[in-house]
Amino acid sequence: NAPAPDENCLFCKIVAGEIPARIVHASDHSVAFRDVNPQAPTHVLVVPKDHYANAGEVAQHAPTMAADLITTARDVAAQEGLDNGYRLVFNTGEDAGQTVFHVHLHLLGGRSLEWPPG
Ligand code: 5GP
Ligand code: ZN
Repeated sequence: NAPAPDENCLFCKIVAGEIPARIVHASDHSVAFRDVNPQAPTHVLVVPKDHYANAGEVAQHAPTMAADLITTARDVAAQEGLDNGYRLVFNTGEDAGQTVFHVHLHLLGGRSLEWPPG
């Protein structure tokens, strides 16, 4: 029993097609689209169609979905030609700067990425 869409959730609206996005990949379970404020030449967000607040929630309740986000990010990275590597990030909570509470995996690549991040 999947969670219902959240009518106040920006990414539920993107999944439903109610808000436009530059979609780069879609499957039965997930959608990948370009971040509106990119932090790297490739900056894509991979989200499950079902609403979960964060990575821990999706991994607990739908572990196959959590894995699907990572394999989808790998496939998009290949499609984007990120042969030199890429970074995957799940921001969780206030200290990490999470602003949208529908889990999204950031895929960043196309430049050298600092570590540790700011
Ligand atoms: P967070 O800080 O929650 O991990 O990341 C949220 C991300 O969503 C940010 O990188 C932000 O630029 C992106 N974002 C916010 N609103 C929109 C939108 O309407 N469309 C798209 N494509 N990205 C968005
Ligand atoms: Zn949502």
